Amino acid sequence: MSGICIIGGGASGMAAAITAKKYAPDRTVIILEKMKEPGRKLKATGNGRCNLSNAECDGYIRILDFFGGIGVMTRTEESGRIYPYSEDAADVVEALRGQLKDMGVRTVCHAEVTAAEKTADGFQVSWNGGRLLADRLLIASGGKAGPKFGSTGDGYRLARGLGHTVTRLAPALTAVETRENLRGLSGVREKCVVRLLRQGSVLCEERGEIQFTDYGISGICVFNLSRFLELPEGRSRKDGFDGYEIRVDLLPEIQDAEALLARRAGTGVPADRLLCSLIKRPLAREISARAGDNLPELARQLKEFTVHPADLRGWQYAQVTRGGVPYSEIDPETMESRLCPGLFFAGEILDYDGPCGGYNLQHAWETGIRAGKGLAG
Ligand SMILES: Cc1cc2nc3c(=O)[nH]c(=O)nc-3n(C[C@H](O)[C@H](O)[C@H](O)COP(=O)(O)OP(=O)(O)OC[C@H]3O[C@@H](n4cnc5c(N)ncnc54)[C@H](O)[C@@H]3O)c2cc1C
Repeated sequence: MSGICIIGGGASGMAAAITAKKYAPDRTVIILEKMKEPGRKLKATGNGRCNLSNAECDGYIRILDFFGGIGVMTRTEESGRIYPYSEDAADVVEALRGQLKDMGVRTVCHAEVTAAEKTADGFQVSWNGGRLLADRLLIASGGKAGPKFGSTGDGYRLARGLGHTVTRLAPALTAVETRENLRGLSGVREKCVVRLLRQGSVLCEERGEIQFTDYGISGICVFNLSRFLELPEGRSRKDGFDGYEIRVDLLPEIQDAEALLARRAGTGVPADRLLCSLIKRPLAREISARAGDNLPELARQLKEFTVHPADLRGWQYAQVTRGGVPYSEIDPETMESRLCPGLFFAGEILDYDGPCGGYNLQHAWETGIRAGKGLAG
């Protein structure tokens, strides 16, 4: 074959294939997908609802056009999050697969690409079931997050083999294991503001619902903080988070917690019940254990309940990968490599990670569409 080869049938790979075929209908486009079907991860996104973009993203209208073009109706929540109207991720996957089929894109499943080499006039791509020659190649094999959906980091090795560098990788949008044993709080959820500090300076602040678990803390607000937990060079995940702390404001609507507690004490609420109805009981017990009957200290604990990160939950729990092929090595208009002509990148393999809320899929579609045009051009 001499045509376009796409490694990975995930969000970015499918968007690229559809776009490439649209702009170059006469060219052969083939997707090599390691799993038994394309779009496995997509089906799990947004808790099965697929939060496919966000109205705060610059290019979201382009993505709505793309989906409109393949028959996917969407709706935008007040928060800005965009979902398929049916709120069923499988509908998005079906629409993409249907479009690929209608356009004549060939998808080979159970095809795990093991090597990609530059030849005189293109690329030789080998997988467990064969090999092919292509004049243009897109690596859209995702990152390392959620490996059960097929993304196990193969693309980084392929990219390095073709002359690219890969910046430091870390799991992101994931829960945080804490040094403190919080097992007694497991299952407790609280609306709060969480702040991530390093050496005393605030790096990031998020409002939302924290979930205490038997290993530490979770919830979307914690996922978003996890993107900023960075290991110093040369340190491993197990020992590198020493300078960090996470402070949880459990009463974000109340400015002066000490005055509030003093008022409650003044009305005759006994000390052991001062926290009653302010926060969940297991948390009240933990805070009482930390502060005793000391009113200022109780108030401080309510506003700055502090835990120390011991580790990030690993790849299997993470939603995205931090790090990857740097943008400086590609042309961001066409997604073509600046180092290896004919080679393109799209999606999570690139050094990009966004917060929860549709930003990561937006990036996958957007770069997939740009790469599709580049591949066709
Ligand atoms: C549980 C979960 C929920 C998420 N929810 C959301 C959400 O609601 N909104 C959002 O914006 N983001 C969400 N994300 C993140 C989002 O899914 C990813 O950022 C996005 O899918 C990345 O797209 P991609 O095309 O780069 O990679 P992927 O979608 O991971 O696709 C890569 C594909 O390449 C294939 N592949 C890998 N290696 C090879 C190989 N050697 N040979 C052949 N094929 C290979 C894989 O099997 C896979 O199908 C979620 C992630 C997870 C894990």
